[in-house]
Amino acid sequence: MSTCDYDVVVVGAGVAGLYAVHRLRARGMRVHGYESASGVGGTWFHNRYPGARCDVESVDYSYSFSDELQQEWTWSERFATQPEILRYLEHVAERFDLASAFEFDTRVTAAVFDEDGALWTVTTDRGVSVTARFCVFATGCLSATNVPDIPGRDDFRGESYHTGAWPHGGVSFEGKRVAVIGTGSSGIQSTPLIAEQAEHVHVLQRSANYSIPAGNRPLTADEIARTKAEYAERRRLSRLSGGGSPFTPYPKGALEVDAAERTRVYDEWWQRGGVLFGKAFPDQTANRGANDTAREYAEAKIRALVDDPVVADTLIPKDHPIGTKRIVTDSGYYESFNRDNVSLVDLPATPIVQIDAAGIETTAGHLDLDVIVFATGFDAMTGALARIDIRGRRGEQLADAWSAGPRTYLGLGVHGFPNMFVLTGPGSPSVLANMVLAAEQHVDWVAGVLDHMDALGAQTIEATEDAVDAWVDECNERASATLFPQANSWYMGANVPGKPRVFMPYIGGFGNYSRMCDEIADAGYKGFEFAGIDPAGRERA
Ligand code: FAD
Ligand code: NAP
Repeated sequence: MSTCDYDVVVVGAGVAGLYAVHRLRARGMRVHGYESASGVGGTWFHNRYPGARCDVESVDYSYSFSDELQQEWTWSERFATQPEILRYLEHVAERFDLASAFEFDTRVTAAVFDEDGALWTVTTDRGVSVTARFCVFATGCLSATNVPDIPGRDDFRGESYHTGAWPHGGVSFEGKRVAVIGTGSSGIQSTPLIAEQAEHVHVLQRSANYSIPAGNRPLTADEIARTKAEYAERRRLSRLSGGGSPFTPYPKGALEVDAAERTRVYDEWWQRGGVLFGKAFPDQTANRGANDTAREYAEAKIRALVDDPVVADTLIPKDHPIGTKRIVTDSGYYESFNRDNVSLVDLPATPIVQIDAAGIETTAGHLDLDVIVFATGFDAMTGALARIDIRGRRGEQLADAWSAGPRTYLGLGVHGFPNMFVLTGPGSPSVLANMVLAAEQHVDWVAGVLDHMDALGAQTIEATEDAVDAWVDECNERASATLFPQANSWYMGANVPGKPRVFMPYIGGFGNYSRMCDEIADAGYKGFEFAGIDPAGRERA
């Protein structure tokens, strides 16, 4: 076997990359990490906009790999703010000495597999190249910002920010005229806080989104003690669940119960807060009739929260079934439109003509602005990988292999790209699940297959073409049995002009997926091909 600088290079120091470093080091591997930011945290390093919080409860949206860690860390609120989550990840990095593996402020620009030596050469924007046997991409599903190419965008003379690349010192909106472009989670979370400071906020909405109040509040001492005492069971239920949190939908379909019972169930899930509302009934995002009952319930809530019925109507989505875009988890969004200093700009009715030095020109007139906030989302799931020149066998570029949409086996492996693992990427439950547990599940699985390779004495692992084809079919079939493909969502790549329209995550549920991964492992990692095997290894494996 060729000599190399490292056993494994991990790209990204977010939730997934940090745990990968920890777990792979524990296997005795020489691990080297690269992170383009100046610190750990990934999403929680970059997204410092006002109001940024998790939408999965913090006690669940946290690592489970160390019981000591989960016992010693105490979350202050149901849904923690970005600063608290970043503090947590910094604490984890310090407690397990993870930052020492990383070179920060260093972007990986290329990763090229050399077939003869079975090694990856990883090159950075500092002009340095290193070699490693394995490459683990923990580059994030929501890390490649999407700044739309609106005419005149760069002519604006005021301040402009993307929510996913927010300045570290914060931004003062005091007395300023602000436009927030985008009404996904980032725009909806930030608007109420910006409105508290700004002279005026114009919310520019291209499509309305369903948003459900978080019901956020401080956690009580009793709740914290109970959660810590019951953590093992909470995690067990989360790992079996569809979405990586310890909740199970109502046992019957929405149309199998009478109206009173349906309302009772929706009330209960509404109180849970936010995105979970999409999972009250098991058929809610699969059956249009069932979905309509959830939609009608949510619409009535929106109308009750917004004083002006015309504004309320504009804020109600007309273009997608509820839950087929990620439901936003908000704190005071709809109420913002009852303030005198917040106005809604309905872009389909009055589109942007251009951005100029002084603001934004729409067909309804000019908005004079001091600040533009681009809450315009991400080139999701594939964007961060596409920005790296990744080449596998015969120099094939990953971007070419995925030109019609991502093609993976289990989301973890790609045919033609041996010894490369993608964490929480397309083809895995990923963004449809609690991503901390999803990352742990992927990293643990990778560690397991590396143990298997050691036992076999195998030099390379590669997903077979047949396994990839079958998995892509499976993912597509699962998605087409739901209402999700009907939405122009970032799950479908619809938010980025020219991106193939493919439903990217695996929608069969986190618990099912994990079980499948385990079964595949038990079957000797069926669908993966191991090469360069030491003959004595077969005996050991
Ligand atoms: P990231 O946290 O995105 O980390 C990837 C890292 O890789 C980044 O730091 C990036 O700088 C680095 N990187 C990328 N490319 C390169 C390169 N070429 N070279 C070097 N470094 C590179 N998920 C949930 O489950 N629950 C939530 O409540 C939730 N809230 C969210 C809130 C926001 C505002 C956003 C944007 C996402 C949220 N998500 C949530 C999804 C979130 O992205 C994941 O939960 C999780 O943080 C992802 O971790 P990661 O390590 O996979 O990726
Ligand atoms: P997003 O959901 O993709 O929303 C982007 C918004 O910008 C959409 O309203 C989109 O409109 C709009 N937009 C994009 N291009 C535009 C253009 N050219 N002109 C006008 N409007 C444009 O992005 P996000 O809000 O950053 O959220 C992405 C994901 O990150 C979320 O779904 C969630 O998974 C995660 N997140 C979670 C939280 C949380 O609560 N924990 C917070 C933030 C983010 P269209 O809908 O018409 O495309």
